[in-house]
Amino acid sequence: MSRLRVAIQKSGRLSDRSLGVLKRCGLRFAHSKDKLFWFGQDFPVDLLLVRDDDIPRMLLDGVCELGIVGENIAREVMLERNGGTGLTCLRKLGFGQCRLSLAVPEDLEIGSLQELQGKRVATSYPALTRALLGEQGVTVQAVELSGSVEIAPGLGTADAISDLVSTGSTLRANHLRELEVLFRSQAALYSPSTPLPDEKQQLLDRLLARLEGVLQAAE
Ligand code: ATP
Ligand code: ZN
Repeated sequence: MSRLRVAIQKSGRLSDRSLGVLKRCGLRFAHSKDKLFWFGQDFPVDLLLVRDDDIPRMLLDGVCELGIVGENIAREVMLERNGGTGLTCLRKLGFGQCRLSLAVPEDLEIGSLQELQGKRVATSYPALTRALLGEQGVTVQAVELSGSVEIAPGLGTADAISDLVSTGSTLRANHLRELEVLFRSQAALYSPSTPLPDEKQQLLDRLLARLEGVLQAAE
């Protein structure tokens, strides 16, 4: 009997809503609090609880068939690892909304992205930032930072930043001005783009039908 594995964020902004949507699809799991693997009880779908950054790689490596992750991370990992391909977005889930924005120091007189040509941009999303700016004909030097991106211009290690924004309060607190939204993101259900064996595909189709019902009822 085949089973599917779905990876979700263990603890963070997407965790509660990810688990919530799966539960509303009728999935129930046997788990102990700190275990990273939850066994699916009524429906053969098991849960893996991991860091969100690991989810796209786990899908590409065939560790699991499904994953709930922000489009920002899925796109970044596909660009870094796989020429921008390899994962299929099955359904956007309507939570985890944020935007990847280009921001500059508020006292810097920059009016357009084009003026950033050749400049240093601090970001946790170097491949996605380069790709999105490249689409607009702008080439930058991406300075990769895993956190605290917004302090880089003040420290003199970058001229601008490309970072996730939801309200903009972090930008304002660091005297940064949002110049342009590069990308709008939300949480989505992803699978590897390679075909699944028939039995697993049938399970996935049943799960997707339930998910569609759940999401439409919520709209
Ligand atoms: P982990 O420990 O799993 O690596 P994390 O600290 O990288 O967690 P979170 O801060 O929980 O991740 O963010 C997870 C996702 O939530 C982001 O990748 C993004 O898709 C989404 N998100 C929504 N709003 C925001 C925001 N204001 N800032 C950052 N991420 C946001
Ligand atoms: Zn993360």
